[in-house]
Amino acid sequence: MAKSENRNFLLEPECDEILRAYNIPVIDSFFAKSPEEAVEASKKLGFPLVEKIVSPDVVHKSDVGGVKVGLSSADEVRKAFVDIQTSVKQKNPSARFYGVYLQKMLKGGIETIVGGTRDPQFGSVVVFGLGGIFVEVLKDVSFRVAPLSQEDAMDMIDEIRAASILNGVRGSKPVDKVALAKLITSVGALMVENKEISSLDLNPVMAMPEGAVAVDSRIILGD
Ligand code: ADP
Ligand code: MG
Repeated sequence: MAKSENRNFLLEPECDEILRAYNIPVIDSFFAKSPEEAVEASKKLGFPLVEKIVSPDVVHKSDVGGVKVGLSSADEVRKAFVDIQTSVKQKNPSARFYGVYLQKMLKGGIETIVGGTRDPQFGSVVVFGLGGIFVEVLKDVSFRVAPLSQEDAMDMIDEIRAASILNGVRGSKPVDKVALAKLITSVGALMVENKEISSLDLNPVMAMPEGAVAVDSRIILGD
């Protein structure tokens, strides 16, 4: 599908299929091609919801107004569909619009990033960090060469400078590090076994008091 459309990256629904095959928890989602389909899907998923553009020409969805969070009714879901479509048409007129991805909105988690890259010397490499400024500004990340064990992944989590945030601060519960580590090792296995993937980005993975769930996924294919 991606290759036949001359895309070098997979759409979010396609990524989720691959992640599921590796038992990587992904958020419950529906692909909807019209506002009516989105409203229908919202009834199955329940509220609150997040709605995101699905387009082969949009990689960073927020940049084009392509992500609406905190939708709490069918009317908001319908409106978000139209707003996303309008915003993308304005910001990137040539972008194709396939529809939206409707997701259950997760609350009470800490945003983390789990990535996979290829290094000419080391091969498959897995990266872990906290979302937002921690990775972008502070470059607070840890790396391991895949495949990696559960212990390796636990070490990766504890190694970042901001690790204490995951242990619970100001009364918040600690995150489920075991689940997070399991997800990290699965990303390692996926990278080792699928050499056509040049990089993978789960940003964010919501680290919850119980479980860890990928809510945004990006897979770039090599040649
Ligand atoms: P992109 O990175 O392409 O702009 P994302 O899918 O990562 O789009 O969405 C942007 C932000 O919206 C995320 O970093 C996160 O803060 C929030 N978000 C996205 N999906 C969910 C979700 N299912 N539950 C809670 N928050 C979400
Ligand atoms: Mg993202």
